[in-house]
Amino acid sequence: MHLKSLTLRGFKSFASSTTLRFEPGITCVVGPNGSGKSNVVDAIAWVLGEQGAKALRGGKMEDVIFAGTAGRAPLGRAEVTLTIDNHDGALPIEYAEVSITRRLFRTGDSEYEINGDSCRLLDIQELLSDSGIGREMHVIVGQGQLDSVLQSRPEDRRGFIEEAAGVLKHRKRKEKALRK
Ligand code: ATP
Ligand code: MG
Repeated sequence: MHLKSLTLRGFKSFASSTTLRFEPGITCVVGPNGSGKSNVVDAIAWVLGEQGAKALRGGKMEDVIFAGTAGRAPLGRAEVTLTIDNHDGALPIEYAEVSITRRLFRTGDSEYEINGDSCRLLDIQELLSDSGIGREMHVIVGQGQLDSVLQSRPEDRRGFIEEAAGVLKHRKRKEKALRK
């Protein structure tokens, strides 16, 4: 499984439809300060179901919608589509390619889609939950956070690595079972 492409429309600074294509392996996004690199990362977190505005570096969820610039009017909605290569069947769905779409209108209405069919957020969370990229399971190390990871106490660092490796949930389950 790997991320194939990401399309942003009206998401943060990406007013016009913009598609990024990823190959298997490591992807680097380079560009000047303020050009939207972190916004791309925010878009991935958002389409995977992030519900916290702060995690998306905003004050409220509406802040993900293109707010306008001197030469361009604000937009009424933000839309992000993430396409995942599922040839290895890591996602429990019978498609070799899975597209997840999230849309937010200024009215506050939200829409979610899997391969173009509308669905609930819960359906997306369930689809991703055992794949290692579900809610709280993918790991995004934000700008400036790397130092705090490197300088954290060994126990905290271990927790971080366990979460990234997907074993934290199993350890939590085990601890809960042992308490009973
Ligand atoms: P740096 O190298 O400094 O980390 P960056 O490439 O990560 O920069 P981002 O933080 O992704 O930059 O982008 C910041 C830009 O996105 C700012 O110019 C900000 O005004 C713009 N931006 C953020 N939200 C919106 C929005 N809702 N509408 C329009 N522009 C927005
Ligand atoms: Mg940045």
